Amino acid sequence: CGIVAYIGQREAYPVVLKGLKRLEYRGYDSAGVAIINNGLQVYKRKDKVAALEEYVAGKDMRSHIAIGHTRWATHGEPCDRNAHPHKSGDGKLAMIHNGIIENYVQLKQELLKKGHEFTSDTDTEVLLHFIEEIKKQNQCSLEEALRIALKRVVGAYVIVLLDEDNPDTLIAARKGSPLVIGVGKGEHFLASDASPIIEYTKEVVYVNDYEIAIIKADELILKNISNERQTPYVQKLDLEL
Ligand code: GLU
Repeated sequence: CGIVAYIGQREAYPVVLKGLKRLEYRGYDSAGVAIINNGLQVYKRKDKVAALEEYVAGKDMRSHIAIGHTRWATHGEPCDRNAHPHKSGDGKLAMIHNGIIENYVQLKQELLKKGHEFTSDTDTEVLLHFIEEIKKQNQCSLEEALRIALKRVVGAYVIVLLDEDNPDTLIAARKGSPLVIGVGKGEHFLASDASPIIEYTKEVVYVNDYEIAIIKADELILKNISNERQTPYVQKLDLEL
């Protein structure tokens, strides 16, 4: 189980794919990616990263932003449909998640009453629809909706969101599961640990629990759950490849 994401000048999919392979040692049952190319595109497959790679072969994967995931199923059997990324009801948002949303049953019941339909059995899709619902109800930004949603979430998570309407921004958050951001020149790398990042940059920021990161190619903003700016603490990795 792991996450990888990229935003910057490079082709994002090869960076993310390579990163997912570097995280293979953690163990997983499915893998998937989302990019923005002619709108939001999600590709996901049960089994190895190689199966995903084969599945996307020949597709137009050009994008300067991408999120990728390897899944260790906790809610819902391992299958294509339950693999991440998941999409929002309107198809505009994609999200990856490592961890568990403990109160997802209750959230799901509330959302079903409001007419939400789900295409997977995961806790992750419930959280994404919950964020989408808050965004719609409050007519607020995705960042604000995420902040409100996380106040009600019980569990552990690292999540990364991709928004078709904001193709130059990634939004991430964590509690209990690790998230490292690699800071490059006009680019950022996100991953569960530093191993997918070190070949590109040695400068990293370890995101703290309850922080939300708003990441553009040339800007990294960290905020706490009360919407206060935090100064990113950039550390230098001394690991060798
Ligand atoms: N709970 C989520 C699921 O079962 C995420 C699992 C993971 O950490 O990979 O889909």
